[in-house]
Amino acid sequence: MAIATINPATGEQLCKYSALTDREIDDKLAVAHRTASSWRATPIGERTGVVRRAGELLEERAIEYGRLMTLEMGKPIRAAIDEAKKCATACYFYADHAADFLADEVVDVKGERGYVAFEPLGVVLAVMPWNFPFWQVIRFAAPALAAGNVGLLKHASNVPQCALAIEQLFEEAGAPGGAFQTLLIGSEPVARILADDRVAAATLTGSEGAGSSVASIAGKHIKKTVLELGGSDPFIVMASADVDAAVKTAVSARTINNGQSCIAAKRFIVAEPIADRFIDAFVERMRGLVVGDPMDERTNIGPLASDQIRHDLHDQVERAVASGATVRTGGRSRDGEGFFYEPTVLTDLAPDSPVLREETFGPVAAVVRARDVEHAIEIANDSRFGLGAAAWTRDAAEVERFSRGLAAGTVVINGMVASDARFPFGGVKKSGYGRELSAFGLREFVNIKTVRVMAPPTR
Ligand code: NAP
Repeated sequence: MAIATINPATGEQLCKYSALTDREIDDKLAVAHRTASSWRATPIGERTGVVRRAGELLEERAIEYGRLMTLEMGKPIRAAIDEAKKCATACYFYADHAADFLADEVVDVKGERGYVAFEPLGVVLAVMPWNFPFWQVIRFAAPALAAGNVGLLKHASNVPQCALAIEQLFEEAGAPGGAFQTLLIGSEPVARILADDRVAAATLTGSEGAGSSVASIAGKHIKKTVLELGGSDPFIVMASADVDAAVKTAVSARTINNGQSCIAAKRFIVAEPIADRFIDAFVERMRGLVVGDPMDERTNIGPLASDQIRHDLHDQVERAVASGATVRTGGRSRDGEGFFYEPTVLTDLAPDSPVLREETFGPVAAVVRARDVEHAIEIANDSRFGLGAAAWTRDAAEVERFSRGLAAGTVVINGMVASDARFPFGGVKKSGYGRELSAFGLREFVNIKTVRVMAPPTR
């Protein structure tokens, strides 16, 4: 895959980069390894100072960075600017809390001084996707740098300008050379980098295939990984719910980021008594969304990030229709330039419909009906993924049942799933393992060291 910026709103290639040579990769590994020794010894207050400054720069430059994201991957400009601001909040969060998260934990054992220390691992390779080109990187980088690790970023090949901007951001925030470097490479050199003894661990956000490949290579070399992979999140609406509010949120939950979010709601599971009402209102709202130029503030849905993604999405819709689905709205690409796809609602789905079994990465909603709470949970959990889940209900017993019964890394009641620096984020099943954000995310890439200082034996 070429390392290039192709504006998905027009299909025009705006710039192209040569991939780093093996020699250049090696030089960057050497710098990262050297910096890892000095950065881990840098006082925590200085490290979090860099992270805080990065947050300030993100806030100051939110419009500039937002335009860059929109240009490279097509998300609506308002969402892109919000993404830059959200990155700033994550930086502030770790700047404020990293020292507490890394403080020694005393273990009270008679006759000795025992404690648990949290020490950096060293160089961490981050393989990242294009869909949240700043957020995915910052939510790895802020805790990693605060913890004393150094980062090497292999970003998705279609967002090279974002990748370079983030490298520059940390440099300008005061990180020493080598603390955070971007590697402009395709996916082929990743295996060699992972095998290198100077790399301690890796985190990957992306598809199952990429996750499986990176984790198996890292496993071969006994290196820790965190995997944040795909999702097919359920969005359940029960009869007692505020249906109008649920419909409104359902539209946002499906179409956020042009539908290309791991935690976008993809399967809408609606209780029989309110199913027709929900579907009619949902279809109407999806149909009313403004699809168009992502740089225009009035746009709700921009283009998909590439023509391939649009092709794959349409193929899923066609296979769903072939297996009996009804297209209630949408179901096709928009004519003209750019990789636009119409907001789509599908009903009458067979249980093994591709839009229920596979992740749909675009504005395509699959709606199914549930008899009762247990049936809704059964449908929701009948998925190879387990990233997020949302349920709408006013019934206290149902709230409890969904909170405990849904097999996902995050459950939200009467809202939509969204990441938040204060809470851990991650999945179960094929959605991956490990956590990002909160104290849990910061502690993924540390040596949890046990220290027990015994009194010397008396003679
Ligand atoms: P992708 O094709 O897996 O790419 C993700 C990253 O992995 C890119 O940097 C890509 O590089 C690299 N990559 C691909 N194959 C690789 C391999 N065999 N070895 C090493 N690196 C490899 O995924 P995507 O299409 O960009 O992103 C969409 C996927 O990410 C969806 O499944 C989505 O659900 C998931 N996602 C998950 C989360 C989460 O937090 N759970 C968040 C966002 C996205 P190239 O670009 O050079 O191919």
